[in-house]
Amino acid sequence: MIYLDHAATTPLDGEVLQAMMPYLTDVYGNPSSQHSAGREAANAVTAARDKIARIVGVPASNIYFTAGGTEAANTALKGVCAASRERGRHIVLSAIEHPALLESARDMCAYGWELTLVDPDGNGIISPDSIAKALRPDTVFVGVMAANNEVGTVQPIADIYAVVKRHGAFFFSDCVQTAGVLPFAQFPSDGMGFSAHKFYGPKGVGVLYMKGGARFARLLSGGNQERGLRAGTTNVAGAVGCACALERACAAMDKNNKKVVRLRDMFLKLVNQNIEGVHLNGDGQSRLPANANLSFDGCDGEQIVFGLDLAGVACSTGSACSSGAVTSSHVLTAMGLEEQRVKSAVRFTFGKDNTEEEVARSVDCLKAVVARIRRSRA
Ligand code: PLP
Repeated sequence: MIYLDHAATTPLDGEVLQAMMPYLTDVYGNPSSQHSAGREAANAVTAARDKIARIVGVPASNIYFTAGGTEAANTALKGVCAASRERGRHIVLSAIEHPALLESARDMCAYGWELTLVDPDGNGIISPDSIAKALRPDTVFVGVMAANNEVGTVQPIADIYAVVKRHGAFFFSDCVQTAGVLPFAQFPSDGMGFSAHKFYGPKGVGVLYMKGGARFARLLSGGNQERGLRAGTTNVAGAVGCACALERACAAMDKNNKKVVRLRDMFLKLVNQNIEGVHLNGDGQSRLPANANLSFDGCDGEQIVFGLDLAGVACSTGSACSSGAVTSSHVLTAMGLEEQRVKSAVRFTFGKDNTEEEVARSVDCLKAVVARIRRSRA
């Protein structure tokens, strides 16, 4: 299989698996236990937290392990809203957030909060001005993702953060797509989250950063793990794997990005040379290195994904499929793209282990699949 869906998930790095193995086998103590087996596990979690904090550039006491990006987003939004309800009940999000944040906000609307969604421009960029216009005296939470998972647009987070800081609301940035890819310093925030499986780490573990002094209610109640703010026995191997994967991804960031950009640009060039009626979605410049989101005239994105899958190439559409119901991409729709362009979008996301040969073969397959779909519709 040629895997071109790295924004969905990445393969586990062999070295990361090696780092995790002792905590999946011999070192099985519960880190909350008082005996030496527990202490050994607790020490591993502490070391993992310290490593992540150093890389992010924040105090270790501001780092919370979660079960991934979704839990980080839920905890930040619901936790801050619950702790700030005396100050106001208004939430501002970009309209192109991941459902992890959008649906969390919709949950809060059932309890009396109001949500304002801010649309991007036609390239998928959220302007600081549009955020400023959406702020109200009762706004308590603002969320804008560092980079979008569908079209890969990287947002001007530092400028947006400055706007939100002048207002005083809490600012959260979903860094799931940028962690290990772009420096954390590029995306200042009061809170952010990321997920290990997006940077060659294990699935089901992520990180929530909340700045010191931030007031937020916990999502999971129970034991005193994560300083009482996230109950549940700690995923020791996951924490170790997350830290190891982040360290490796950040150490190889420049090298990996150069390679991935070269493969992505080779892919775009070959597609342009070989297939007519193709449109790039998202910003040409402010874009994640790995992302190519393309729409194909006269095609359905789903059909392209299925056709490529049969040919041994894995990619994804710009639409979300849940319980068998395919809905149009809320991202492309918010960008104001016309329906045909939304329906025909396909996302290709490259990874550090892809090769030029795979890129060339995937374009050959894509050319054949698109031609077949167009013929069948003619
Ligand atoms: N936020 C973004 C931007 C994502 O791309 C994803 C996953 O695709 C998530 C959040 C959810 O992360 P997780 O799968 O770790 O829950």
